[in-house]
Amino acid sequence: MKKLVHFPDNCMDFFRDAVERKQDGPLKSRLKSLEASINLEYDNYEAEFRTKTIEKLKPNAFFDLYKDDLLSLYSYQSYIIRQLRTRLSGLQAATIRNTCQNCTLIPIQSMDHILPKELYPEFCINPLNLFPSCQTCNAHKSKSLTKGGKRLFLNLFLDELPEEQYLFADVRHGKDGIDFKFHLKFSKNIDKSLATLIASHYALLHLPERMRLSSGSYFAEFRNTLAAARKRLTNREVVQMVVEKTADDKFCYGTNYWKSVLEEALVNDAIFLSQLK
Ligand SMILES: [Zn+2]
Repeated sequence: MKKLVHFPDNCMDFFRDAVERKQDGPLKSRLKSLEASINLEYDNYEAEFRTKTIEKLKPNAFFDLYKDDLLSLYSYQSYIIRQLRTRLSGLQAATIRNTCQNCTLIPIQSMDHILPKELYPEFCINPLNLFPSCQTCNAHKSKSLTKGGKRLFLNLFLDELPEEQYLFADVRHGKDGIDFKFHLKFSKNIDKSLATLIASHYALLHLPERMRLSSGSYFAEFRNTLAAARKRLTNREVVQMVVEKTADDKFCYGTNYWKSVLEEALVNDAIFLSQLK
């Protein structure tokens, strides 16, 4: 998981471009008439974005009257959103630009509306409110942003993730073969409210279980790579090779990248290593 670079251009220009592309004259006129009100809302969004408090924004009932008009501006397949995808993608490191950073498991297939578009149609095409995501994460996102005043999901345009390890994998050998259990454990160095937010994000997006399922297919590939290396190298050398690989991968994909966590757990497992021979 890595923080993404957010849209750096003028969000109102983006809104105006989207309106300009509308073919339906009356719809276009109604949307144009909203421009000043949308401008105010976008200013409010940007102000809360700067202080990382967008959850404080309340839905504006005025826009309920124009909800269908506003929602007509958003479609993942539309030219304007594809343009945004390309713009955002070009700002990210090549290693992460195509993968959903909410989970790091699946390619990007949609835009997650950070403030849900049904409640906040005024922000349905605000680029600061659109986070590239997979459909699974998007489907797991609830309409509630907060619980007891606390945010439930990471906003990876804004949140700084800890540099130390908090995701761990347990390796289990059963009669049905190998299995894994991912869990979170935070050291005292990690801010408590950030730890709570990360834990909520992982739980609500079902990340430990989704990582376990993805590990099943990845495990065979990883084991085969190590078994091939083991023909020429000692166990100690194989472990060293994996340690060097995970250090590079963590730099590219984030300190708590699930594949690196899994690989480290495996090379620390005596049974797994003994079976490489
Ligand atoms: Zn995802």
